[in-house]
Amino acid sequence: MVTGGAGFLGGWLCRHLLDDGCEVVAVDNLVTGTPAVVEELETHPHFTFVHADVTRVLDVQGRVDQVMHLASPASPVHYAALPVETMLVGSQGTMHALDLAQVNGARFVLASTSEVYGDPLVHPQPESYWGNVNPVGPRSVYDEAKRFAEALTTAYRTSRGVDTGIARIFNTYGPGMRADDGRMIPAFMTQALKGEPITVTGDGSQTRSLCYVTDTVDGLCALAASDHPGPVNLGGGDEVTVLELAETVCRLAGSSSPITFVDLPEDDPRVRRPDTSRAAELLGWKPQVPVEEGLRRTLEWFEEQLRSAA
Ligand code: NAD
Repeated sequence: MVTGGAGFLGGWLCRHLLDDGCEVVAVDNLVTGTPAVVEELETHPHFTFVHADVTRVLDVQGRVDQVMHLASPASPVHYAALPVETMLVGSQGTMHALDLAQVNGARFVLASTSEVYGDPLVHPQPESYWGNVNPVGPRSVYDEAKRFAEALTTAYRTSRGVDTGIARIFNTYGPGMRADDGRMIPAFMTQALKGEPITVTGDGSQTRSLCYVTDTVDGLCALAASDHPGPVNLGGGDEVTVLELAETVCRLAGSSSPITFVDLPEDDPRVRRPDTSRAAELLGWKPQVPVEEGLRRTLEWFEEQLRSAA
């Protein structure tokens, strides 16, 4: 079972599991997911879609042997618009997904985030770092919901014997991201392809480490196949500044869009790079798709979307 299966990462994960021969049930309320993802997955005979909100009781027919809990708004634009819903899906939604795993004796994997490190004071970030999160800032609904979800997952493991794993996912990108979700890759790509100014926040010197979506999905599946509790960082190792990224996207798109600078959002992390040695040692995982290759594939996808919308 994949909660959030109609979303960007969830859709890729469902496709991967179906290709692996699994029966997949996706549960999603489509609050930020896309019906087109579900329509495509529904062409597969081993896929079932349940349109439901996981903050209500989760009732799935049949035996479940793996619960991959991805349901949650994930982009700053979305969780700013859905603050209470984001807190509830991280808390109550996670509890229902854990209950389902407990009843079925299933392995449970939580899609947590690098945002649990907040604006990190340790760089790169190992899993042992506890983070630097503003509990009342504009990002707190997401960061604290995920921190709560990690604590709850740990409590179900230690006190209820549920077989759990926690993945801390860093910036993941690829075809299928929503053009309007406010994250920098879709924003830069659509701006570059339309010849509009590229809006870099702050002076663009803040850094991010990007991971192509198939690599993140491979990491999630490797964690699911293990019995490791995590947390395990899943993320790309090549740290780039936001300005460098904007320039690379422009170059790959052959765009002459000018780069403009807009205000840095409050509490925006200055740096972000995962220490992925734990994932390498325990799961034999490391990202395979070089950033330029992943960006090319993603650009092609956005180009196609813009063509078909024209
Ligand atoms: P997304 O918004 O594309 O997908 C999230 C999905 O969850 C959507 O389909 C949405 O409709 C669904 N959802 C939200 N609330 C729900 C609820 N109450 N009940 C049922 N479904 C609900 O986001 P994404 O980028 O695919 O992220 C998926 C997961 O991975 C999220 O939990 C996110 O926090 C985590 N994550 C993603 C990234 C990334 O870079 N994409 C990084 C770190 C963590």
